[in-house]
Amino acid sequence: MHKNLWHPFTILKDAPDPIKVNSGKGSWLTLEDGTEVLDAISSWWVNIHGHSHPEVADAIYEQAKTLEHVIFAGFTHDPAEQLAEMLVEKLPKNLNRVFYSDNGSTAVEVGMKMAYQFWKNKGEDRTTFICFEGAYHGDTFGAMSAGERSVFTDVFKDLLFDVDVLPFPETWIGDKERGQKEDEVIDKLEDLLSSNPDKYAGILMEPLVQGAGGMRMCSAEFMQKLHWVNRQFGVLLILDEVMTGFGRTGDYFACQRAQVEPDIICLSKGITGGFMPLAATVCSDEIFQTFNSTDPMKTFWHGHSYTANPLGCAAGVASMKVLEREEAFKKFENIHYSEIEKLKSHPKLEHFRITGTIAAMDIKNEEEGGYLNSVAKDIKKKSVDCGVLLRPLGNVLYMMPPYCTTEEELRKIYQTISDIVE
Ligand SMILES: *Cc1c(COP(=O)(O)O)cnc(C)c1O
Repeated sequence: MHKNLWHPFTILKDAPDPIKVNSGKGSWLTLEDGTEVLDAISSWWVNIHGHSHPEVADAIYEQAKTLEHVIFAGFTHDPAEQLAEMLVEKLPKNLNRVFYSDNGSTAVEVGMKMAYQFWKNKGEDRTTFICFEGAYHGDTFGAMSAGERSVFTDVFKDLLFDVDVLPFPETWIGDKERGQKEDEVIDKLEDLLSSNPDKYAGILMEPLVQGAGGMRMCSAEFMQKLHWVNRQFGVLLILDEVMTGFGRTGDYFACQRAQVEPDIICLSKGITGGFMPLAATVCSDEIFQTFNSTDPMKTFWHGHSYTANPLGCAAGVASMKVLEREEAFKKFENIHYSEIEKLKSHPKLEHFRITGTIAAMDIKNEEEGGYLNSVAKDIKKKSVDCGVLLRPLGNVLYMMPPYCTTEEELRKIYQTISDIVE
């Protein structure tokens, strides 16, 4: 490790040296020694079009020569307006107000603060969130409070606020207990809401796929049942689509794939195609109108220096154009299914699951699951040696390729998995 650097999520002592990357093109990274590695995880799930896409790169260059940044309170600019229009056009119809920030954690913080203040502005005191076991919403305090309490958050536990937690009805191909698991969660939700109807500000969840929690997937039917119950009690539905947004689940957004309409959606990661840090929290007009007041107490006092950074917004516009023109995210699900079919009988693998571009499976081993499972370290190293970048979450192996990945490349990733597990 460089003497002046400190890397994220890294147990420092005895950490293997970070691998230096010189360049990236499409789904490939070129390392310092010239080795080429297939990026099967879109570099922390952000590079939806692959690396160094010329269209997005050009848009940033042009914007940088015109206006690189401007204060966004009291001022505005074309890229922010254009991207907001493009987002609203693709999102469920009720979502039409875009609030920009600059990373996934803040997109969630903004969503939670909006929901909390929405009730205050209406004169109601609803102060608790319902969240899910295994959730990951980011590393700021609000996002940590809403997420699974784990080794990541343990040091800070005295500073986190309480939320009510539901089990996540994770499911996989061939799971016979799905309906029963889902019903239990829905019953619990109904219990919470009916015993304390005025307690809850919102339900916060990662729709269809919990990312960092281990690529755990739930069904669209579950999302619909949850939405239906939620509607009966008028609690806000906040969907954290930081990872699932922009095609990941096979549709533009997971809420569309699941056919639910959230009140607030949190977006980041894929929003600029992985080029610039940017995030957006988009809410309904109903929420916006409770803030639309001359009263300073009803004002949303939140913002960041880089809010709506024009380079980020220009990258977002260019990325949306590529996404809409190609809709390349639609081609993955079938290939995943055909490849998983071949791996299915492998004695060391279980719980195969697929949603859109994402496929995941568990490696059976003696150790407890979780992020620190030692099998991850092994696979990280072996996969790069085999020319594929995989980064298991504990004992969970997954793929989240950029959309430019060809069928042949995707099959190579599966071959590598099969070789490594052997
Ligand atoms: C990555 C992620 C976040 C946090 O985003 P950052 O940009 O890393 O702060 C929040 N929610 C989900 C679902 C994520 O995958």
